[in-house]
Amino acid sequence: MKDCIFCKIASGEVPGDMVYRDERVIAINDIDPKAPVHILIMPKDHIPSLNDIDQEKSDLVGHIFMVAAKLASQKGIAKKGYRVVNNCGVEGGQSVEHIHFHLLGGRNMAWPPG
Ligand code: 5GP
Ligand code: ZN
Repeated sequence: MKDCIFCKIASGEVPGDMVYRDERVIAINDIDPKAPVHILIMPKDHIPSLNDIDQEKSDLVGHIFMVAAKLASQKGIAKKGYRVVNNCGVEGGQSVEHIHFHLLGGRNMAWPPG
């Protein structure tokens, strides 16, 4: 999508701090980290939000969670624990309309989130 920052990072048009990439997804360090580990995992294809995940795309979400677990292990936070978050829509706190999952770790997480 033309004006989407995450599409631009995925295509290489804009540099991103890439930590993982495969044929379907990329993972980048968040530009404004909220924890010692804060990685965004997203599809290369433009999908606006979780509301757009249908049966056909549902395996992509499983793939993203698999990548999250792999990255958590690589970052040394798998045993202590971590959080994977998707913000959907305005009240969910989504600010970039290209679906992405936050992998957060390296500190204690509060519950409930704000
Ligand atoms: P949301 O609020 O949509 O769930 O999360 C968007 C996240 O993307 C935020 O944590 C924000 O810091 C991050 N972000 C926004 N623009 C950029 C960017 O250009 N590069 C990177 N690496 N992260 C970004
Ligand atoms: Zn996009």
